[in-house]
Amino acid sequence: MSLSAPPLLLFDIDGTLMRKAGPHHRQVLVDAVKHVTGLATATEQIPVQGMLDRDILAWMLRDAGASATFIKRVMPGVVQHAQALYTECCPDLRQKVCPGVRPLLRRITLRGLKAGLVTGNLSAIGWKKVESAGLKSHFSFGAFAEQGKDRATLAARAIAQARRNKWITRHSVIVLFGDHENDILAAKANGIRSVAVATGLSQPAALSRLQPDFLLPDLRNCPLEEILS
Ligand SMILES: [Mg+2]
Repeated sequence: MSLSAPPLLLFDIDGTLMRKAGPHHRQVLVDAVKHVTGLATATEQIPVQGMLDRDILAWMLRDAGASATFIKRVMPGVVQHAQALYTECCPDLRQKVCPGVRPLLRRITLRGLKAGLVTGNLSAIGWKKVESAGLKSHFSFGAFAEQGKDRATLAARAIAQARRNKWITRHSVIVLFGDHENDILAAKANGIRSVAVATGLSQPAALSRLQPDFLLPDLRNCPLEEILS
């Protein structure tokens, strides 16, 4: 690894850094919609894994009979309220951290490597989750649900931010760690390396079909040197 081309490590949150942080997250989406619109909605019917929060909210509202115009109008208020609610109710997530994540992040930080978040979470929700899991100090930046229409766009934003700040050069190895098919697709769309981890709900066979550069059962003994070489 060349010091003149420092690597960049990007991480999805749910299913990758932590598991089962979902219930409070789902509840604040429902509560925020109710507060802003008065509509009763649900998330149980939605395959939320790998989705962006705004897309989940739009789906919830559509299922409750809302029109596209109405959804567009209320979305900013719902998004703002959901984030405020989550920062108040987020539980301690230290026990939800996936195997191997802490040692890997410590290695990354000790080596002075740059790590960022690329997640479908709204920004205040994503930051609160990593804070409550005791992982926040390892991340200096991120791209979140409100900053793009899909994960590929979010990854592109994170990379662009790293370029602007001269954290990376065009020779840098950039890696996206994620637990979902959409993470692999986002990495491929940006021409960066993908590390798929089978710690989320996606089956290893389904991840394997998309041919990630690395497919790991979890992040214990993560072959970081090999991934960055
Ligand atoms: Mg995920």
